Amino acid sequence: MDTRLDILKKGLESLDLNLSEVQFQQFLDYYDLLIEKNKVMNLTGITDFSEVVTKHFLDSLSLIRIIDFRKMLNVDLKTRINLEINRNLESNKDSELSISSNDVKSFPNKKNINRTYRLLDLGTGAGFPGIPLKIVFPELEIVLLDSVNKKLVFLQEVIDTLGLKKIEVVHGRAEDLARDSAYRESFDFCVSRAVALLSSLSEYCIPFVKKNGVFISYKSGKFEEELKKAEKAIGILGGKLEKVEMFQLPDTDMKRSLILVRKVKNTKKLYPRKAGLPSKQPIGEKPVTVQRENVE
Ligand code: SAH
Repeated sequence: MDTRLDILKKGLESLDLNLSEVQFQQFLDYYDLLIEKNKVMNLTGITDFSEVVTKHFLDSLSLIRIIDFRKMLNVDLKTRINLEINRNLESNKDSELSISSNDVKSFPNKKNINRTYRLLDLGTGAGFPGIPLKIVFPELEIVLLDSVNKKLVFLQEVIDTLGLKKIEVVHGRAEDLARDSAYRESFDFCVSRAVALLSSLSEYCIPFVKKNGVFISYKSGKFEEELKKAEKAIGILGGKLEKVEMFQLPDTDMKRSLILVRKVKNTKKLYPRKAGLPSKQPIGEKPVTVQRENVE
């Protein structure tokens, strides 16, 4: 019988991810904490180990099908090593850091020096997709946002136990936090899974994204109707639909999609509207009207 580590390794290999033993252990510890806490609060309906790996971990990491973090972060890492080559790199023992100085010199891209990428996971719940992304890409700066504080208390425990760095939990509603200049239009990426319909979700997410950054929504296989209804809102908020990536979760028949919206214009100050409105009255969707019977 496969051990949990075997199941995990096999799953991550299906995404072509080669992780260190420390990273595998972080996933195992995260699973244990999730299952333990799930006994006293509602964090996940899925508890079987293999299912958590596929439906939570791999689903969260499927973002790499549309964003090449490996390449992006690797290039930046190399430029940084170029600067820090003579410094003590003790604290960062990643395999990627064993690049020789010759490799490093072939990346003289000064523009990317010290470039960090900032990602917001909006409505993170039990940490999906933010925690799996952080484990696999420690270089990515991540903010986990949720309106339910006890979920964030759990996530802080996960962060501390796993020893994750450059990750922050923020308690609040998206509609309010997006008015804070420390967060508004400050992210390269805003991602969100299972939070709201795309028209409302666009109003939550797009205000957080920098111009030229992207908003990616995790959806099921059936996205067409939702996307059609959201097109107007996306445009009004300064976004432009760039790509939809469709795929199946490894070893299942479950269809998924990732909808990628690029921010092409700044979002008008008006948005997001006050808390509650984006979901009650999504931009561009007709108000509900009472249909009268046409009686002769
Ligand atoms: N992304 C997770 C959780 C989905 S449940 C996953 O895929 O498993 C949706 C989460 O979004 C809940 O934890 C809820 O508290 C949060 N949420 C919903 N609306 C929100 C808003 N306007 N601002 C911040 N968080 C919100």
